[in-house]
Amino acid sequence: MLEHNYWLTTVDMPASDAARPLPEVVDVAVIGSGFTGLSAARTLAKRGARVAVLESETIGWGASSRNGGMVLTGMKLGVNKLISMYGRERTQRMYAASLASIACVEQIVGEEAIACDFARSGHLEVACKQNHFDGYARQAETIAREFNHTLRVVQKNELSSEIGSTIYYGGMVDETSAGCNPARYVAGLARAAIKAGAEIFEHTRVRTIERDSRNGDPGWKLWTARGPLWAHEVFVATSGYTGAATPALQKKIIPIGSFIITTEVLPEKLARELSPRNRMIYDSKNYLYYYRLTPDNRMLFGGRAAFFPENEKTIQQSAEILRRGMIGVYPQLRDAQIDYVWGGTLDFAFDIMPHAGQLDGMYYAVGYAGHGVAMATYQGQKIAELMASEHAGGDKPENPFVGIPFPGAPLGLYSGKPWFLPLAGAWYKFLDWVS
Ligand SMILES: Cc1cc2nc3c(=O)[nH]c(=O)nc-3n(C[C@H](O)[C@H](O)[C@H](O)COP(=O)(O)OP(=O)(O)OC[C@H]3O[C@@H](n4cnc5c(N)ncnc54)[C@H](O)[C@@H]3O)c2cc1C
Repeated sequence: MLEHNYWLTTVDMPASDAARPLPEVVDVAVIGSGFTGLSAARTLAKRGARVAVLESETIGWGASSRNGGMVLTGMKLGVNKLISMYGRERTQRMYAASLASIACVEQIVGEEAIACDFARSGHLEVACKQNHFDGYARQAETIAREFNHTLRVVQKNELSSEIGSTIYYGGMVDETSAGCNPARYVAGLARAAIKAGAEIFEHTRVRTIERDSRNGDPGWKLWTARGPLWAHEVFVATSGYTGAATPALQKKIIPIGSFIITTEVLPEKLARELSPRNRMIYDSKNYLYYYRLTPDNRMLFGGRAAFFPENEKTIQQSAEILRRGMIGVYPQLRDAQIDYVWGGTLDFAFDIMPHAGQLDGMYYAVGYAGHGVAMATYQGQKIAELMASEHAGGDKPENPFVGIPFPGAPLGLYSGKPWFLPLAGAWYKFLDWVS
């Protein structure tokens, strides 16, 4: 078993020219080269802005190359909870945005001819308890009534047409969701941003940012590992890797580790038995498993096996926990070899919602909570459009996530170091046990 991200074995990541000096002045400095940052850079550069994407590691190094490649409808929170938090009208707009975000990925993949195995294969949520399954009918009914979107509830006795596992109480299918190879997708987005005119600088960690005016023009001075740069605007797209360069945002984001294993390539017949319709699958627990076949028929099986962000120890522990979890779902995989294990860091806001807009004068989009492939792409584009409209005038783009309250830790008891994560992990396990 290799401690390595399987997706990276399938892609040639574009690399930036290490000798190219940083520009002295740009219109927009984008921090982070994942889906959010690259989607924003592509949109801004297409509108003629001079854009520098500053990445502390390499292109797509963060969650964007490491995830399950599930391009999902909806948000992490259920629709009834959303309606209770934001009311019907805003929730309707949020749900519509989640559907539009998948179309946004599909459109970019088409326009830029990104070979990333994007396919609308649909997702399947499976119920770990009878009361979870009972909730599906209510959810489907609310979603049909409020958002005019159809989900199909699958009874336990029909579930074998969707999944080769007998442990679940039923399921719910959304045909709109899609799957992709995320590393190929982020590589394609980077190439698209470069084609549009954006410049990407790898190994260029932003260390500090301060307000600075230049010839009377208000803006920002960014101190990076490769020297200073002046930018008229800053877009922070650092998600679960948000650090001390943007302290106000760091305090609002909880970084949570998520881990994935992939098996060896499975025989075609076994792969079809495990997932007859090639769905993106996840279960109904708080401490959930998510899984799918890769385009070459490996089982990719992920979960929040440890709550802390990835390091060598949490990755190793997670491989065994996930293997046991996978065999619990699919006893057929008892003897399958595990070829790869890796981890990545998710970004959760304290209210488990995506947030976007401006904080301390800088633009940002974060908080995707495991639903970031589509939403990060979409928010990158939408916030870039907002920046363009504020610069040149014109209508602000519709974005229901801008302007919602963005809570920090209760009583402000959080400096960016998630000391409470073991407690949160234990709490979620307890909730799964009792609810
Ligand atoms: C294991 C795992 C599985 C997941 N599965 C799914 C899934 O199946 N479906 C789904 O929708 N979502 C999934 N997600 C979530 C999804 O991957 C993320 O929400 C999404 O990739 C976030 O993209 P991003 O561009 O905002 O951030 P990232 O891709 O994390 O990029 C942030 C970048 O910022 C850089 N950076 C940070 N600080 C600085 C600095 N100071 N200077 C310069 N650069 C900096 C980092 O190096 C990093 O490359 C998963 C996440 C993980 C970790």
